[in-house]
Amino acid sequence: MPSLGLATVYRYVKILAGEGWLSEVELPGSGLRYELAEHPHHHHFLCRACGLAFDIDRCLEKVEELAPEGFEVDSHELILFGRCAACR
Ligand SMILES: [Zn+2]
Ligand SMILES: [Zn+2]
Repeated sequence: MPSLGLATVYRYVKILAGEGWLSEVELPGSGLRYELAEHPHHHHFLCRACGLAFDIDRCLEKVEELAPEGFEVDSHELILFGRCAACR
């Protein structure tokens, strides 16, 4: 929508995030991104060439067990870096 200014888009994205429709995704080396909050637990692949982020829909089993003994894990993040199929 060319008639819609970028500032307006950002303003609505912020509102949607504030109301819980969108959740923030922070990937190193790239700005803040947003995705639908209803999306179940997943991870991302970040292409170093084109900068696109791709969803990875599965997670590793028992990832909490990597924590030192006696520690309690309440969340985790996992990002794969490399080149997407198109950039290879
Ligand atoms: Zn790419
Ligand atoms: Zn996970």
